[in-house]
Amino acid sequence: MFDSFTTRLVVEAACVMGCLTIFSFWLKDRHTSAHLWWIGGFALFGVGLALGSLRQYLPPLLNYPLPGLLTLLGVSALWLGVRVFDRRPLPVLAILPPAIWAVGLPFAISSYPLRYALFNIAIGTATLLAGTDLWRHAPKGINPRTCIAFVCLLETAISYSQAAALIAMQDAIGNGPLFGWLTFAPFQSAVALIAIVLFGTQMISERSQHRLHRLAMSDELTAVLNRRGFFELGQEALRAQSETPGESSVIVFDIDRFKSINDTYGHAAGDKTIASFAQRAANQLRPDDLFGRIGGEEFALLLPGTPLDVAANVAERIRLAIAETPIECDGHRIAVTTSAGLTSAPNDQAQLDRLISTADAALYEAKGRGRNRIETLESVPSGLRHLTPIARVPHKA
Ligand code: GH3
Ligand code: MG
Ligand code: MG
Repeated sequence: MFDSFTTRLVVEAACVMGCLTIFSFWLKDRHTSAHLWWIGGFALFGVGLALGSLRQYLPPLLNYPLPGLLTLLGVSALWLGVRVFDRRPLPVLAILPPAIWAVGLPFAISSYPLRYALFNIAIGTATLLAGTDLWRHAPKGINPRTCIAFVCLLETAISYSQAAALIAMQDAIGNGPLFGWLTFAPFQSAVALIAIVLFGTQMISERSQHRLHRLAMSDELTAVLNRRGFFELGQEALRAQSETPGESSVIVFDIDRFKSINDTYGHAAGDKTIASFAQRAANQLRPDDLFGRIGGEEFALLLPGTPLDVAANVAERIRLAIAETPIECDGHRIAVTTSAGLTSAPNDQAQLDRLISTADAALYEAKGRGRNRIETLESVPSGLRHLTPIARVPHKA
């Protein structure tokens, strides 16, 4: 039904396209070793298929085992590349498809349909392993990962069903050639490979965009969030929390008498002090807390779903972590203290800009009352909280 030579050429072209595309990504980002796994995977797959087409010129022991083995190692390498990309451990199961081929081939080598069926079982297993793994680690919804997983699982269904048909019809097939829909295999591999290259390219681009976005949100001196990142992620966190009962709190910190640190030790020492301050404060935080540098030596901490009394403990812990040990800088021991303003609001009323301006007012109080202390102001006074409008639905008799 399908011209085998033409479809094999299309598969080879897809492999070359995969190698070149990933190579171009690797040129821009040589630290990502996943790219090398993928280039190797496409190359092995392509070479394996090319040797398969030239098997009449290969010595007897290599004519069947080698091309199949290279092709299956190629698919496993493509899967392992995804694991490296995700910084997940390499699974031992990746050797299963080549092992199926290596163990089964001595029993199937003399029969054309059985050889073909065995290869289909091995390749279907490879795509099953890769497809389920990608599916399990993909974000919800339609995205490049779920699309690759879908292509892999479709490939599994086609490969397994072809294997079953090859075994059932082995007498009719004899020494080949294949007929009818069984000739579909190389064509479907070509389409699947092209789809994997396209969606894989998109997956890599999304990662780079995500990295750039993170870079744009982080502060160069301290590596914590910058003002823009703090507000963007903070608003998102409060939105996510808005339907959960409870409170969220914000603390604003400002280093005390920082101008005199700059004047005494120099601007560079001032910079190092800011960086050490951020480091010490960040060491006190939980994974869901958002900490950002919102001004020169001003920092904000958002504690989603955290009531005022717990937040006051966090603020006190950070104040002590700064005040108790002087910051070592260029041979100087710089005594640093911080003041903090603290506020909270019920999750359904919490607005970041309002929380920050109330915490700022509390910080102003802390400065006025002598510094190296924490002051609290309520963003929504508790006496007013019951006044939140409640939409009443008229009751129909
Ligand atoms: P207060 O206790 O009232 O906060 O006194 P302060 O001296 O810390 O006053 P203020 O917070 O108004 O001053 C902050 C100073 O921090 C002003 C500015 O020169 C300095 N500054 C702002 N950004 C940086 C920075 O990135 N590096 C350094 N070294 N200094 C900075
Ligand atoms: Mg300041
Ligand atoms: Mg200050």
